[in-house]
Amino acid sequence: MFKALVMTQDSESGKASADIQDLTLEDLPEAEVTVAVEYSTVNYKDGLCLSAKGGGLVRNYPHVPGIDFAGTIEASSDDRYKPGDKVVLTGWRVGEAHWGGYSQKARVKADWLVPLPDGITSRQAMAVGTAGFTAMLAVMALEDHGLKPENGPVLVTGAAGGVGSVATAILAHLGYEVAAVTGRPETADYLKSLGATQIVPRADLNETVKRPLESETWAGCVDAVGGDMLARVLGQMKYGASVAAVGLAGGAALPATVIPFLLRGVNLLGIDSVMQPFENRQRAWQRIATDLPMEKLDAMVHPATLADLPKLGADILAGQVQGRVVVDLN
Ligand code: NDP
Repeated sequence: MFKALVMTQDSESGKASADIQDLTLEDLPEAEVTVAVEYSTVNYKDGLCLSAKGGGLVRNYPHVPGIDFAGTIEASSDDRYKPGDKVVLTGWRVGEAHWGGYSQKARVKADWLVPLPDGITSRQAMAVGTAGFTAMLAVMALEDHGLKPENGPVLVTGAAGGVGSVATAILAHLGYEVAAVTGRPETADYLKSLGATQIVPRADLNETVKRPLESETWAGCVDAVGGDMLARVLGQMKYGASVAAVGLAGGAALPATVIPFLLRGVNLLGIDSVMQPFENRQRAWQRIATDLPMEKLDAMVHPATLADLPKLGADILAGQVQGRVVVDLN
């Protein structure tokens, strides 16, 4: 027997709710690898999956959410993994279409796993989680498009959230000047402790575009917000600079003009963490091991248990989670 957070759907209202249940290995879906999950986390998508309607992501109930986890292999019919190996999983619609990490055991495809790099514990891997992994993908994409510290300040939007916090810490560690956009002024000291040198109030950037080009200010941007903010930021990028579009915490629309692309050669880089090829996943986790200071990561962590998840799911959808939540499954 092991514990899992299981969502079941009320047949009359169609609404789903979560409770902690005792499951057995026979309850888990069929797949090659069984993992003893040690830690999971709470991402924005988890908030959607934990909501009564499943955020349009969960189609079948009963369901175990949790879009990422880290732990130890218990059994494997795939040659790449053996019992005792430490692994991390993000993406592949685990926790949405497949049962996920809010469970002491998970059964998944070997293709979905990445061996945990040396120097990162399973707890630290989930302090990073999908949000931090995606932040690393965004930084790598900006570097691949020519970003260097001497190019100028880099903007991080939604900075006090999960993606934003990790992006801020990585960029500062790599020697970038980081300007952090937040709607929560009380997080300024926290963001400075992660390495931000400038705090930009959300209100400065979330108004609709009035002029397609503003002063050339940012050498790069990791954007977790989308919507009006992304549209404004495009008009403030330096010549030839790139924006990594990661999230939609502020909206899925992009009410922008094409003028920054045509007159300033600005690049808009799409970042997807779900279907990333294995080699790039490995590269990102290796970079996390070297370029994310673990003491800064520890400062972002809020510990939680399975019982805390329904509330935390609602909190993250309301933009009220600071940094990274780590769910202890041990
Ligand atoms: P969080 O909720 O932790 O962070 C989002 C932050 O955005 C908030 O903390 C807040 O930061 C800011 N924010 C919230 N609402 C608004 C608003 N209305 N207008 C402007 N800013 C707002 O979520 P995550 O960091 O986990 O995820 C961020 C986004 O990235 C989500 O949209 C998520 O779906 C997406 N994502 C995408 C991935 C991909 O593969 N492309 C992978 C992982 C996440 P502050 O308080 O500092 O202003």
